[in-house]
Amino acid sequence: RNLGVIAHIDHGKTTLTDSLLASTGLLSSKIAGSARVLDYLEEEQKRGITIKTANISLLHRMGPDSFVINLVDTPGHVDFTGKVARALRAIDGAIVVVDAVEGIMAQTETVTRQALEERVCPVLFINKVDRLITELKFDAAQIQERFTQIINRFNDLIEIYGESPFKVTCKVDFAEGNVAFGSALHKWGFTLGTAESKNLKFSDVIAAYKNSEYKQLQQTIPLHSALLTMVVKCVPSPLEAQKYRVERIWKGNIVSKVGQAMMNCDDNGAAVMCVTNVQTDPDEGLIASGRLFSGTLKNGEEVYLVDARAEGAVQQVSIFMGAFREPVDQVVAGNVVALSGLMMVEAGETIVDVDHKAGIVPFEHVTSISDPVLTVTVEPNHPKDLPFLLEAMAKLPVEDPNITVEVNRETGEYLLSGMGELHLEIALKLLGNHAKGIEVSVSQPRVVYNESVTRKGMVAVAKSPNGLNRFVVEVEPLRRPFVKIGTTEAEMQIEKKMPKFDGHQDNLLVDCTKTTAQAIHIASSITSGFAYACKAGPLCGEPLRNIKANLLELQVSENAENHTPEEIMRGISKAVIGAVLTSDPVLLEPFYRTMVSVPTELAGVCSRILSSRRGKLEGFEQKGTLTIVKGSIPVSETIGLSEELRSATSGRAFWQSVPDCWRKTPPKIAEKIIIETRKRKGLPPEVPDPEKFLENNSHEA
Ligand code: GDP
Repeated sequence: RNLGVIAHIDHGKTTLTDSLLASTGLLSSKIAGSARVLDYLEEEQKRGITIKTANISLLHRMGPDSFVINLVDTPGHVDFTGKVARALRAIDGAIVVVDAVEGIMAQTETVTRQALEERVCPVLFINKVDRLITELKFDAAQIQERFTQIINRFNDLIEIYGESPFKVTCKVDFAEGNVAFGSALHKWGFTLGTAESKNLKFSDVIAAYKNSEYKQLQQTIPLHSALLTMVVKCVPSPLEAQKYRVERIWKGNIVSKVGQAMMNCDDNGAAVMCVTNVQTDPDEGLIASGRLFSGTLKNGEEVYLVDARAEGAVQQVSIFMGAFREPVDQVVAGNVVALSGLMMVEAGETIVDVDHKAGIVPFEHVTSISDPVLTVTVEPNHPKDLPFLLEAMAKLPVEDPNITVEVNRETGEYLLSGMGELHLEIALKLLGNHAKGIEVSVSQPRVVYNESVTRKGMVAVAKSPNGLNRFVVEVEPLRRPFVKIGTTEAEMQIEKKMPKFDGHQDNLLVDCTKTTAQAIHIASSITSGFAYACKAGPLCGEPLRNIKANLLELQVSENAENHTPEEIMRGISKAVIGAVLTSDPVLLEPFYRTMVSVPTELAGVCSRILSSRRGKLEGFEQKGTLTIVKGSIPVSETIGLSEELRSATSGRAFWQSVPDCWRKTPPKIAEKIIIETRKRKGLPPEVPDPEKFLENNSHEA
């Protein structure tokens, strides 16, 4: 069984995982619960949250049969939902851990929805039941009522987010045996099946706590046995699951040989692996882990990396054991596996054995990677350390695709960007591990802004620096986000006829000249020039977003010496920037979607704090004694928000945020930011005049 554990932060995922580990004899059962072995990075231990996806394989005996359970640890913090989504590829079922006191929370909802979208079958574990007994002093009837509430709410999520066959099959019910209750901390738990077989009633559990005999519950109803038995019974095996999961995450031809091998989880078919995570090991270099959907992988196997378009040889095949990897000779289809020796591998990659590389279709890319919204500048204290620092920084996006590293070409600054303050802090800590002994200075985080346009502008003309190539461009807002799937038929018809050059991920350059695409050597310089323009808009050098540029005319010098890539790139880029300036450019600021959960009497205080920071309130949701205040807030206004909420609510507010959308910055604020940013980047104080780029003035451009 390929299994994950998903939960809202602090609901007990790590404690539960440790408890399962202890049961296999990998860890002494005494230290499970305090050792938190899956959180093996020092940083994770200190913060008490799980960042890295670590994997582990367990053996569970049930009567005469043994089952291998590959446990994939998924991050619980909301900044890292991209990682959760990738980890879900590797698993067929997930234990959703819900704190019995808090109930279903925002992140429970997010991760359950993601699981259902990937056709991962959820089973429910209601944790911290000991607290209902010892702290809330609930009697059996009240406990029963609480369980019913949680189960109903959970089934609501399945009803809302499940596809039609799964809506029915994934619903949880005590009678079906896919719900368990217990205490991960005290290591007991049961399902209906285990309770019946032990002739146990809930009042017995309450009595055990009253008589301080709860430790005995570990022996009578051990948690691992209830949970692993539930998993074996209710989570489908790879043989069953791949039949309906492959078509969801792989868009190749299902009736092809490779498609059939994956559907049938065939050890003898093509070896096809989906890489869900990449880590760097100080001795072995990159370690790619993921799921082998079909075939067998051996040491020395020659493989092809589809996205990287590179071949390589697997040095060592291994399986995970907590923080460690156990080398093995080979691994067969359906398993979660780790490979070393592949230099070019990145998270999300599709690996196939070289014999089947022809025409292989890669796995669908996980789409939840967000654009970074906060940046810090990193600088070595001793300039001689710069090469080492850059080398270490380059490793970060490989391990976490939500981190961006770049050099700002105007200022020469080394920039590290991510999705939130905590995300950046963790990335810096990782950087410290990669660049041991190097002292660095890090700036305060600042918000990443974007630039866009609000209307179709005038036709702009620019020449390359040597004056011998001429470009005519107009720019308009890109009305739909640039995604290839989901384009309407009419749009497809138009776009099919027009060769396109992709720039930045949300920008598009359309060639309306009908000649450029034939000149391949020029086409690639035009693409690069457009991408170059998209990296730094004219207002204050922030990236362009949602721009559609139409290349209307192009005059290129006949002489190859006069249309070098450099000349073409600079010419087209100047024309695009000129056109943007005539299209009412605006500064966009990133917004977080926020959810604050607080005791109801404090909801008013919280909504006032959000409003005072330009937040937009979208509603309140009542959950027992808690109210969830929902809304969105500019990222720039969230610096110091945690502290303000904490002190206004005596620490009883819980605040979560995820990058959500980009909105126009109010003009007064935008003006100030543009001035400050231009100054910081060493740009001339005034935004360039669009007049310079218009046809009759083109000699100036
Ligand atoms: P995670 O963020 O989901 O990984 O949660 P952790 O496993 O780190 O648990 C969060 C906190 O809840 C820790 O202080 C745990 O000791 C505590 N905890 C976890 N399970 C239980 C439980 O069954 N009962 C009680 N009382 N506390 C628990």
